[in-house]
Amino acid sequence: MVHNSHQAIRELFDKNVVPSYGRFELVLSHGAGSQVYDVAGRRYLDLGSGIAVSCLGHAHPAITDALVEQSKKLIHVSNLYFTEPQGRLAAELVQRLGDGKVFFCNSGAEANEGLYKLVRKFGHDEGRFEILTATHSFHGRTLAGIAATGQDKVKKGFEPAVSGFRHIPFNDLEAARRALSPSTAAILIEGVQGEGGVTPATPEYLLGLRALCDEKNLLLLMDGVQCGHYRTGRFQSFQKILEGVPGGEQFLPDGLSMAKSLGGGFPIGAFWVRTPYADLLGAGTHGTTYGGTPLACAVALKILEVIDREKLADRALTLGAWLKSEIERLARTYPAVVKSARGMGFLLGIELADDIPAFAAIDKPPAIQFVNRLHAAGVLTIPAGTHIVRLLPPLNLQPQEAGEGISAIEAVVKSLA
Ligand SMILES: *Cc1c(COP(=O)(O)O)cnc(C)c1O
Repeated sequence: MVHNSHQAIRELFDKNVVPSYGRFELVLSHGAGSQVYDVAGRRYLDLGSGIAVSCLGHAHPAITDALVEQSKKLIHVSNLYFTEPQGRLAAELVQRLGDGKVFFCNSGAEANEGLYKLVRKFGHDEGRFEILTATHSFHGRTLAGIAATGQDKVKKGFEPAVSGFRHIPFNDLEAARRALSPSTAAILIEGVQGEGGVTPATPEYLLGLRALCDEKNLLLLMDGVQCGHYRTGRFQSFQKILEGVPGGEQFLPDGLSMAKSLGGGFPIGAFWVRTPYADLLGAGTHGTTYGGTPLACAVALKILEVIDREKLADRALTLGAWLKSEIERLARTYPAVVKSARGMGFLLGIELADDIPAFAAIDKPPAIQFVNRLHAAGVLTIPAGTHIVRLLPPLNLQPQEAGEGISAIEAVVKSLA
């Protein structure tokens, strides 16, 4: 058997695992709450939650219990049959969004893929198929996913691209209007761009796109894979962004994709379709073997129950506001290192200054170097692009853990100033 050591596990990867990821030099072994441990027993504060996935932290007893109890009853039966957990989870999601229906799958890319197929069906008889997506967006790594994603780095080497996608600048309503062609059938955006560097849509953009899509008979689709599931303090980021904005509470997209925190680490994805379009994908048009298994749905239901019971949306909102104010303080105190604080709730970005002298010696993006230094300080965070470091903590992060995280971040910032 493999020795439980860093070097032996690294060698297993070097020999046997496709090297498609640029991984950090950490070999993780177990966790509890927002703490995770490497194989040498060193403790890290996890302010990344995987990548916005482990929304209840690690080894949460409610998730363990849901896995154990449901697996004793039924793990999988296929979608040839009905099961209670899938029906109940769909009802919970519909109740949190609005009149419509839900399709279950296994990942974010696959959820978006379902939305692309919805668009093809929607526009089919009129010969419309084109989907406009935003520059700096991220929608997953499948072939259609990289065509939809507005970042060249994910497309390079995989041409020819799947056709039917064009990119428009984010938060620019007039650009969206100008980009429409007779083939356009939909617009897809993230409520808060995550991989692109934590950029929220403006309320005017969301309401403007809704009006534009109504006017031109287009589907307005939103990718809530990263920014959804209460990370912003509301179930979906658009609900938070439009809170208190005139006309905002009536806003709904026509389709919405979910994954990441939906399963808290157990793989599950989903898309919701608003009522007038909810039956477009009729019997036989779409499917996936593992979609909405009783096990995955039981876990997702339990997570929603815990979030509601423990008021974790409020936690993300208030503790997130505190974290953001602390990053703003760092930006004021150390402007040569921290440029600004981005985002909301538990979807935050530390924007690093352009030229940090201490980073000049190593040929790696500042965000990566900063994340590495935070690893040395015992904190896990997630880079986005070259200059943004994301904080995507578990929704049940404790206040003293937030304080511990800021202290470690401040120490690293200070060492670079
Ligand atoms: C992570 C992510 C995806 C892709 O999800 P996978 O589960 O990795 O396929 C899609 N959209 C957004 C916004 C994401 O952050």
